[in-house]
Amino acid sequence: MHIAVYPGSFDPITNGHLDIIRRAAGLVDKLYIAVLINKQKKCMFTPQERVAFIQKAVTGIENVEVISYDGLLVEFCKKVGAKAIIKGLRVIMDYEAEAQMALINKKIDPDIETVLLVATENYSFISSSVIKELASYGGDISCLVPAHVQKAIIEKGREQL
Ligand code: ADP
Repeated sequence: MHIAVYPGSFDPITNGHLDIIRRAAGLVDKLYIAVLINKQKKCMFTPQERVAFIQKAVTGIENVEVISYDGLLVEFCKKVGAKAIIKGLRVIMDYEAEAQMALINKKIDPDIETVLLVATENYSFISSSVIKELASYGGDISCLVPAHVQKAIIEKGREQL
């Protein structure tokens, strides 16, 4: 059974993330989406909220499971029996950080491979932070995130006024 992990902050999930999820789920038997609990990084949404948004967005994709985690990614991979880490590659700038992480993870566990999926053209400019910034200025994010995520971002913006 081929098992892979797609890790990230997903603060919140975007259509760019979803595109990678759909494509990765088609390549493996089981895909775990690992939502990183990073106490250093200030997130708009709690890990529970981020997990719930993804769960709703992946309804119907049978071989996907969403879990939050803290600690070493390779340890999480071992725990769930994954042999591959999936990452999305947007612009060439992503490459440097992703290649570095891939090499570090390979050093920790040579059996785990990092697979970089090139972002679909239409989504290659999307990041969670750009979407939050755009929404904070009242920009239309309806084609960039699932509807329930758009609603949550707008509500969070109102709370913060
Ligand atoms: P960000 O906050 O930059 O969106 P995440 O930690 O949530 O980053 O991203 C998790 C993974 O998804 C990373 O490998 C990142 O490169 C990838 N990713 C993020 N946005 C996109 C996108 N629009 N298209 C493809 N991959 C993406």
